[in-house]
Amino acid sequence: MFWPALPVRWLCVPELARSQIYEGGCLCGAVRYRLSGSPLHSVICHCLSCRRAGGAPTVAWLTFERTRFEWLSGRAQPYVSSPGVLRCFCGSCGSPLSYENEASPGTIDVTTASLDDANRFPPTREVWLEHKLSWQGANPALEPFARDSAAGP
Ligand SMILES: [Zn+2]
Ligand SMILES: [Zn+2]
Repeated sequence: MFWPALPVRWLCVPELARSQIYEGGCLCGAVRYRLSGSPLHSVICHCLSCRRAGGAPTVAWLTFERTRFEWLSGRAQPYVSSPGVLRCFCGSCGSPLSYENEASPGTIDVTTASLDDANRFPPTREVWLEHKLSWQGANPALEPFARDSAAGP
């Protein structure tokens, strides 16, 4: 049986080509999410809130269009860390997973390190260097910002 020749427009589907799928989740595996396409930004954040929320000197974030993100399993716990800012983490193991800001309703940030392939989108900027710990080095290869570079974490 022959497949009929596909019209050219079916062979060139830009939407599909762009929609590469990536998954990630928390340490215990209870909460999983899926992303498609590429991030708008990839940053390392030195701010005090990320530091506390992550229990780490910095937190790396990927900013995606909200429509490109979906929770797959488990139930992430929400926490309002500043007015208009919602951070979600796994209620069982505590892994920080996402950041949403009312000021940027069309986007969501996910922790870069929670991606299954955490090497996929290397950071290009370092933000909130104003809050950097004295013993934490800045990365000279990244574009530096004293505060946020956009409406990010
Ligand atoms: Zn977990
Ligand atoms: Zn931050």
